[in-house]
Amino acid sequence: MSNNSTSLGLYCHVPFCASTCDFCAFYQEKPRRGDLDRYLDAMNLEFALLPKDRAVETVFWGGGTPGLLAAKDLERLGRNMLDRLVQPPVEWSIEMAPSTVKADKLAVLKDMGVTRISMGVQSFHPGLLDSLGRLHNPKQIYKAWELIQEAGFPQTNLDLIFAIPNQSLEQWEQDINKAADLGPNHISTYCLTFEEDTALYVKLAKGQIRIDEEREVRFYENGWQQLESLGYQQYEISNFARPGSACLHNLNTWRMQEWIGCGPSSASQYEGERYQRPANLDHWINGMLSGDPLKEEKLILDDRILFTDSVVFGLRMDEGIHLEKLSGRFPGAGNMEKLHCLVDRLVREKLLYKEAANYRLSGKGKLLADAIGSEVIEAMDAT
Ligand code: SF4
Repeated sequence: MSNNSTSLGLYCHVPFCASTCDFCAFYQEKPRRGDLDRYLDAMNLEFALLPKDRAVETVFWGGGTPGLLAAKDLERLGRNMLDRLVQPPVEWSIEMAPSTVKADKLAVLKDMGVTRISMGVQSFHPGLLDSLGRLHNPKQIYKAWELIQEAGFPQTNLDLIFAIPNQSLEQWEQDINKAADLGPNHISTYCLTFEEDTALYVKLAKGQIRIDEEREVRFYENGWQQLESLGYQQYEISNFARPGSACLHNLNTWRMQEWIGCGPSSASQYEGERYQRPANLDHWINGMLSGDPLKEEKLILDDRILFTDSVVFGLRMDEGIHLEKLSGRFPGAGNMEKLHCLVDRLVREKLLYKEAANYRLSGKGKLLADAIGSEVIEAMDAT
């Protein structure tokens, strides 16, 4: 695992949000006075730990709301990061909420070499945005998009959410059409989930809203068909791109290569370990200042773990998995008898297609991807 033949990604977590969306389970907080400076200083300490003999191919800034930082702070963070990289990354994405997009920020990002702006639109319907607790309105989406277009980034992504309570299929169709009309080369679509400790989860627990799985299936299927007909190829269950515009950073992660996370709550998979930084600004900063940064939920990786995760995440991608190649890559993965039985059964049930030595989920299989992933883990744990 710890060899230089794998590609290396860098994820930077910007943990600040102006308010909390009703569905959000990410680590984020409202910045208090002085937090930003302390955060930027500690990020600089974390960047100093990046490998000095190995190039980072892809960078992703997520959050939180990275776009909440002022232009000068985005520049400080970006320049400090670039100073520590062996060479500029081939891809550099940043998430921006529509209400945070400003021309001066975009100019700084473009100048530093950012290649993709990913905007969390979620919906074009004001009522649905309200019910998600989002701060923006459709007018701000269009204004932000105009600025992004003017700045001229090579890649753009729009995030959409579906199966929102009270959302109709017609509204979902309209959201996709409106997103595609803007002409991004990438669209991500996420089924609304109800994570614990979110405002939506509380409503669910109180019986004010309910989950309807059959309804969710219709949203999935309609969305997939529509995006395909609009020229966006599904390359992962939630991700669609024009040719050549898939997000390399995410592909690197799903292919179980290596990545380093910087910032509170960021996860790393690097040099045979998987771990997370504390999801707390003060704990993370103290770790950085001590020179011995905290690694939480540390897992020593072995071939079996990486093989299993490669199958689980590989099946979510359109490219699917090649079991023999994966066994060759992770020779210590062990006995796979149960996995082969499972795969044969999934092929018989038409949830999985076998094309030469490659396995890919069928449409029906994609709808059951989470359950199939659990079965893969069970099969590998049982042998
Ligand atoms: S902007 Fe993103 S990270 Fe912040 S609260 Fe909303 S969903 Fe969560």
